[in-house]
Amino acid sequence: MTRFYATIFLMVMLVFGTSFHSLIKPVTYKSSPPTLGEWHFTPVIEICDEAPITRELLQEGLSWWKKRGYRFGEIQEAVPNGACETGSVRGTITIHKIKFGSTSTTYLHVLESGQINWAKIYLSEPMHSRVIEHELGHALGWDHYDVPGHLMHTNLLLGGWNDSGLNR
Ligand SMILES: [Zn+2]
Repeated sequence: MTRFYATIFLMVMLVFGTSFHSLIKPVTYKSSPPTLGEWHFTPVIEICDEAPITRELLQEGLSWWKKRGYRFGEIQEAVPNGACETGSVRGTITIHKIKFGSTSTTYLHVLESGQINWAKIYLSEPMHSRVIEHELGHALGWDHYDVPGHLMHTNLLLGGWNDSGLNR
C-alpha cells in the first residue's frame, strides 16, 4: 500500500514537473557583450574641470580594465585647447560632469571602419560603485549586455562584477 502511494506521488511530481518545465522559457544570451567599435591605438584620458571623480577612483577603474588586457595612455587634467575645451579630439577619452539628466552616459564616436575615434564619459554625482568601470566599458566599445550580475548590464542594480566576454 505504501509503495502504491509512493508511485502515485512520483507520477504527480513527474506530471507537474513536466508542466512546470514547459512554462519556463529558455533565455539565451550571446556568449559575449555586443561591441560597437574598438580602439586601434591607446587612448589618452583627459579629466575635465568639475568631473565628479578623483584621479584615484579613475585609476581603479582603469586598473580593472588593464587586468583584462586593455591599455590606456596617460591621464591628464583639462589642458588649454585640449579635448575638454575644444570638444572632440581623436584618440581621447574625456571625463565630464553630466549636463542633463542623472544617468551617467558615454558618447562614442566610431568611424565607418569600426575604429573608435573618441569617447566622452559624462558622470553624475554622487557616483555609485561600478559606474566608472561600466562607462569605461562603453568607452572601450562595449554595448549593454543584460546578463544578471554582468558589468555591462543596462541596470546598475541588476549588474555586478561579472566580466564574461570582456577579456582581451
Ligand atoms: Zn551603460
